[in-house]
Amino acid sequence: MSSPVWHPYAHLKTQAPAPKVVGGSGSHFTLESGEQLLDATCSWWCMIHGYGHPRLVAAIREQAGELCHVMLGGLTHDPADQLARELVRITPDGLNHVFYSDSGSVGMEVAMKMALQYQLLIGHPEKCKMLSLMKAYHGDTTGCMAVCDPEEGMHRLFASLLPQHHFAPAPSAPFNATPEQVAYDLAALRDVLASHHHEIAALLMEPLLQAAGGLNMTSPDYLRGARALCDEFGVLLIFDEVATGFGRTGKLFAANHANVTPDIMVLSKGLTGGYLGHAATLASDRVHDAFVGDSAHHAFMHGPTFMGNPLACRVALESLRVFEEERYLDKIAALSQQLSRALMDDSALNAHPAVADVRVLGATAVIEAHSAEALKGVGQFARERGVWLRPIGRWLYTMPAYIATDANITQITDVMKAWFLKR
Ligand SMILES: *Cc1c(COP(=O)(O)O)cnc(C)c1O
Repeated sequence: MSSPVWHPYAHLKTQAPAPKVVGGSGSHFTLESGEQLLDATCSWWCMIHGYGHPRLVAAIREQAGELCHVMLGGLTHDPADQLARELVRITPDGLNHVFYSDSGSVGMEVAMKMALQYQLLIGHPEKCKMLSLMKAYHGDTTGCMAVCDPEEGMHRLFASLLPQHHFAPAPSAPFNATPEQVAYDLAALRDVLASHHHEIAALLMEPLLQAAGGLNMTSPDYLRGARALCDEFGVLLIFDEVATGFGRTGKLFAANHANVTPDIMVLSKGLTGGYLGHAATLASDRVHDAFVGDSAHHAFMHGPTFMGNPLACRVALESLRVFEEERYLDKIAALSQQLSRALMDDSALNAHPAVADVRVLGATAVIEAHSAEALKGVGQFARERGVWLRPIGRWLYTMPAYIATDANITQITDVMKAWFLKR
């Protein structure tokens, strides 16, 4: 009998049997057959230290000996408290309050609910919709599905079930855009806000890098402009840094490229180094302080069972220590340069008729094809060359672990190029 495991995003009739992973070390995981694959995706972008990192494994073991779990309702513990302090320290100034949950989607649900209740509490019950961007991906729960790109996104099937929010065009100006290019994107954002701000609680975005919706990159000026527009129109700004957080765009957080502090920021994926599922929704004093009051409406009625799980918090603390002590931001800068040289500077790749665009930001590189058809079979092609690649639609990308060596990156970019250039 085939396995009862139901795989994500899989077409059940045509899916290939999933290879079984039995272990991993560094940038590689090992299959049952003994085959070692270099993971170019670091497991949906979360395993930033690679597999089997001794310090992270030891942290989990140690914590397991002390306390695996306890509810955060009415109780606290050192790992939750210490991690919250660390997150306040490392995130943009002004984000001083941390609400835990167990996944990126739930972290975003918390952010949206917090924004809605904030508007209610300050006397704006009519501000009950979100403003999202085309090409956005914010998760798979119902609330999150409603703020994903409603046309090209993967949840179009559910349009009739979902609440209707507002959408602005995806930013089109690249990372190094001129002010004029960014002004065009900001004008489009202003148009939607000018028409609908009276019913919008918050603008939410994946800052600088719209990840699962097509690895669309934009300029830090767009973030600064969005911050100013939100202030002008009385709308909160939510940064979904689930994918961009912890170095993926080249700085610790995408917000750091623009020196912008959002009102609410969501972290997950890299938070625990990928070793356990967890998320944190951070809020500014302004948002938090609106919840200080006497009425029953002032309590934030949310509390995932596993919020603040001690194992997750402890491994997140260790992940941050390793990140800082081993100067990961320097490693990421070197990875980024290598990715640019290998992909952006390859004229044959850039000129290939199937290739629409090649771009790199931090430790993220993507070859955008004109159609998903052009990438059919690339997973198998890469596997035969020792690399695990899993494109999203027409985007062939890599988000390697930060511990990847020069040789690892060369192997990944060689395979990505070879797919198109057959060399
Ligand atoms: C992955 C992702 C999510 C959802 O996180 P899960 O842990 O899969 O629920 C939300 N937002 C962004 C930007 C993501 O990349």
